[in-house]
Amino acid sequence: MNWTRNEHLIAGEWVTNAGHPTPVENPATLETVGTTAAGTGADAAVAIEAASAALPGWSLSSSEERQAALLDLAAQVRLRANELVAILVAELGTPERVARDIHVAATIADLEGFADALGKFSFETEIGNSLVVREALGVVACITPWNYPTHQIAAKVGGAIAAGCTVVLKPSEVTPLSAYLLGDALLASTVPAGVVNIVFGTGDTVGQTLVMSRDIDAISFTGSTTVGRSIAEIGARRMIPVALELGGKSASIVLDDADLETAVAWSVRSATVNSGQTCSACTRLIVPAKLADQVTELAREGAAALRVGDPQLDVDLGPLASRAQYDRVTGMLESARRTGAVVRQADLTTDLPGYFVPPAIVNGADPASAIAQEEVFGPVLVIQGAADTSEAVRLANFSPYGLGGAVWSSDPDRATLVARRLRTGQVDINGAAWNLQAPFGGTKSSGSGRELGIHGILEFTELKSIQR
Ligand code: NAD
Repeated sequence: MNWTRNEHLIAGEWVTNAGHPTPVENPATLETVGTTAAGTGADAAVAIEAASAALPGWSLSSSEERQAALLDLAAQVRLRANELVAILVAELGTPERVARDIHVAATIADLEGFADALGKFSFETEIGNSLVVREALGVVACITPWNYPTHQIAAKVGGAIAAGCTVVLKPSEVTPLSAYLLGDALLASTVPAGVVNIVFGTGDTVGQTLVMSRDIDAISFTGSTTVGRSIAEIGARRMIPVALELGGKSASIVLDDADLETAVAWSVRSATVNSGQTCSACTRLIVPAKLADQVTELAREGAAALRVGDPQLDVDLGPLASRAQYDRVTGMLESARRTGAVVRQADLTTDLPGYFVPPAIVNGADPASAIAQEEVFGPVLVIQGAADTSEAVRLANFSPYGLGGAVWSSDPDRATLVARRLRTGQVDINGAAWNLQAPFGGTKSSGSGRELGIHGILEFTELKSIQR
């Protein structure tokens, strides 16, 4: 299949891009699977105008209208689920099952979750003689990455429009094709023209124009900590709200009374799903020191059993998303080996030429070394031993990041106490289910602000007190 697009979604229409389209690569086959528009700052400016024009009407719409529009958009995405799966497999390299059960399912659930939350929340309260209203922030620039492209778009754009904001979205240039399909769903839905505009292109051109524009009232960014930091500085100078969902190096802590096999199997899955390109993945496994060898062997067996190959087939891992990712992950593993860590990897069995990396289990790494501290964003699990629970918590918190985490214990109260001691935005106890209505976000270098559910809507509002 070939998805050829060269347009932007502006004011409710696909507008042909003036310049040449850019090819999009399939990271499994290295073939071109389609094209995307390489937009400019001028395209971003026109989209901002469209979002500004749509703001007065949309920001005064009722919760019921927004709820209905979000549900309709979710239904339009569901209608396109099969094509969306095919595109995600082709442009990201994620296995078909992961594309369907995680990427597309989450995208729909995000939108439905916002609609549900809207139905349960009042944007007005009374305090004495004050009417306190929560109002939309205005025109929001939403900038998203490539690793869960449609979920990240839904998590931002859904929350923003639920709050009454209008949006200019710049999707990742690595995975733009799935965003075109979301654009088609938007056009077919009852979301009014101009409420969501999409400009395709790079961060240096479209992204920079958006964040620097005086007509942008707030920025919501998901991506790397380096770019997030530069956007936070721009936001601070302009004194506008900036929400940042950035990198992570989350730890799964196994206490001495846990079901070891289940905990290790879950942690290997967490570190490797989507080829390890998950910001909240638990990429460190902290275990009682005396069990470290046994855990390493269990993890190695678990990783070796994962099928790596053609994402169109029944596999567990496809390739990494791009040449840049491949170079980064293999380079970090090489430097971990050079600095004394033991890296265990099974052999590759696929004949495809793409960016495949077999899952790696690392032990013996210095806790201060790059492989234990930095986000790898590949299928890599670092095992660390801790003398007791306090050391396990200390090791887990010894990180510039604070996004996710996990705790394993047969005593849920004990696990909850440990979870409370972790400086992260979320913690899963004993493999508890992902909750798309609960606030999602990070502390420290993992960013600020929360997405999803009611908290993800409130992020796009500000308070006004009207005395009467
Ligand atoms: P990235 O920072 O390179 O790019 C993210 C987006 O920002 C892209 O759309 C890109 O074009 C744009 N961009 C780049 N430079 C820009 C600039 N100077 N100004 C404006 N926009 C700019 O990140 P990536 O490689 O696409 O994504 C991977 C990163 O995202 C990882 O670090 C991962 O942890 C993080 N991430 C975080 C979360 C979370 O919720 N915390 C979720 C997913 C991914």
